[in-house]
Amino acid sequence: EKFDLKDLILEVIEELEQKAAKRDVLIRFFYDKSKTFLTTADKDKIFRVCQNLISNAIKYNHDGGEVEVILQTNKSQHSVEVKDNGQGIPPEDLKRIFERFYRVEKSRSREKGGTGLGLAIVKHILEAHQSKIAVSSTLGKGSIFSFSLPVEKKKESSDK
Ligand code: ATP
Ligand code: MG
Repeated sequence: EKFDLKDLILEVIEELEQKAAKRDVLIRFFYDKSKTFLTTADKDKIFRVCQNLISNAIKYNHDGGEVEVILQTNKSQHSVEVKDNGQGIPPEDLKRIFERFYRVEKSRSREKGGTGLGLAIVKHILEAHQSKIAVSSTLGKGSIFSFSLPVEKKKESSDK
């Protein structure tokens, strides 16, 4: 269905605000208020993608950390970036975090709770949308997860 990604992200952030506040993590959302971010996709599934990414950015952050969600658009794609300034991911683990049940540093991850399924689901959902998840991370500095979805084109009668 057709929906505005900005509204969806606002809903996800609202849902996760309490979880963030408990850890004194600030979530900031950047987007151009004069724009719309319409896309056509499975809304519930894209909600889960954003929920997983933002919830990881909170969970693997340090107390008092920051999460930035950046929504941008060009002619054909909307891009969503979720940045945290948490612990980061070691380079040797980066390519494996999208595997089911894979968790970096088992003991530390275990205290945080979770199953190691979140990112596998994210990857699967985005692939079903002909999209993919990208990650870059610096150990001790933080991580950036990003993905894109197509811009819903307005119908142009001049085409005919
Ligand atoms: P679940 O999402 O199923 O509750 P999970 O968060 O452990 O559990 P994933 O979301 O798949 O599972 O993430 C896999 C692993 O990747 C995590 O255990 C964690 O080690 C690492 N990871 C994910 N996101 C981040 C992040 N933003 N910063 C640092 N490490 C991360
Ligand atoms: Mg997770």
